Amino acid sequence: MQPFEEMARLGHEQVILCRNDEVGLRAIIGIHDTTLGPALGGCRLYPYASDGDALRDVLRLSRGMTYKAAVAGLDLGGGKAVIVGDRSIKGEPLFRAFGRHVASLGGRYITAEDMNTNVEDMNWIRRETEHVTGAGAHTGGSGDPSPVTAWGVFHGIRACLEVVYGNAALTGRKVAIQGVGNVGYHLARFLHEAGAKLVYSDINHRNIKRALESWDGEVVEGDDVYRVDCDVFAPCAIGGIVNARTIDTIRAPIVAGGANNVLEDEESDSMLLAEKRITYAPDYVINAGGLMSVYAELRGWPHKKAMDDAENVFNTVKRVLHKAQAEGVSTITASNRLAEERIESVASIRRLRVPEPARVNAAPQGG
Ligand code: NAD
Repeated sequence: MQPFEEMARLGHEQVILCRNDEVGLRAIIGIHDTTLGPALGGCRLYPYASDGDALRDVLRLSRGMTYKAAVAGLDLGGGKAVIVGDRSIKGEPLFRAFGRHVASLGGRYITAEDMNTNVEDMNWIRRETEHVTGAGAHTGGSGDPSPVTAWGVFHGIRACLEVVYGNAALTGRKVAIQGVGNVGYHLARFLHEAGAKLVYSDINHRNIKRALESWDGEVVEGDDVYRVDCDVFAPCAIGGIVNARTIDTIRAPIVAGGANNVLEDEESDSMLLAEKRITYAPDYVINAGGLMSVYAELRGWPHKKAMDDAENVFNTVKRVLHKAQAEGVSTITASNRLAEERIESVASIRRLRVPEPARVNAAPQGG
């Protein structure tokens, strides 16, 4: 890969390589687009096979964050960080060293939890910089964002039902949830309380048991979840599960859930879904509640504001589905266009220069 060419192709502003041999830190921070505000995105710890793999991942993920924040209507840009390694590296020195690199960017990038990083890691980072979110509630963070994510997914599902059936009500609707972990469990609660019938699938039997004991439901094993005769298939586990092999077996007319990167191949799988007349709520639109939760934390807003913003996922998903219908494109293309249109319109108002002290930007507060 030619790094500068790839950055130009994807539209990145800046990529920062971070190194500290004493503590074993090798990290890359990707800043995709800061038109709307500072670049926010999680910090992923992963034993990448090569520097190229790490760079590819951070470029792809940071670009995705730009689109997610833009469609969610937040004043945030897109960023992401990857640390090359695994949990065998000592936590405090590693994450504090990473925190100093984040600090050096002066707020252009704000970090958060992601794959293989946790609240404790964020607390170490917070010892070095205020530009971190999702730290534990005792250090002023907003804690676990899953309930807010699930609340947004719930309202996104309602939007899909309204567009497909002309009625957003859940009463009597059947929803198959793949993965009843953090997001899936809370989603099951909201759906159950709204009167839906639930079907669960999870490889972790403890999580299945917890869901069954809390809210009624049936259980299916493995790939049977795709074949459930239901109104909504809600993927809340892993990515890539909607693909050329599974689409043929999906019986639900709606695919709408919390998992990231649901489609194995965005372009071809969204076409296949459209051909089968399956309505797909783009993952980054419907699962934006987690980002809204950390945004509320940055702004010093109460949890209730994050929940209200997540409720608005209903309107955003409806806009995406209507735009896709009106423009004859997939729902992914429609949401990408909405994001690009918002970024362009904000870029156009920024042509009017304002004096520095008067500029209102999404500078972190209360950190
Ligand atoms: P989690 O690890 O708490 O839950 C995932 C669940 O899926 C677990 O119970 C796991 O056993 C199950 N699972 C894994 N592989 C499976 C498979 N093949 N079939 C069935 N079940 C399987 O994770 P989470 O925080 O609930 O996140 C779930 C998804 O939502 C992920 O894709 C995540 O990236 C995405 N997401 C989460 C948030 C959030 O706020 N937590 C926000 C946005 C997106």
